[in-house]
Amino acid sequence: MSEVISYPCPQCKTPTTWTDNPYKPFCSDRCKLIDLGAWASEDYKIPSDDTPFSDELSQAEQLSRY
Ligand SMILES: [Zn+2]
Repeated sequence: MSEVISYPCPQCKTPTTWTDNPYKPFCSDRCKLIDLGAWASEDYKIPSDDTPFSDELSQAEQLSRY
């Protein structure tokens, strides 16, 4: 099969091909870096205030303290 499948780059929506694309699923090194940067700086933040786990932990701490 020599069919080339193209799809919009998740970052900039430029039509991109999957085959022979070292930056897939992105169209270029730039888009890949932008996405990694956004992921590392924003989306990958660990929520520390309002997770059920941290709430349970703090409650357990208080219980063991009193
Ligand atoms: Zn792109």
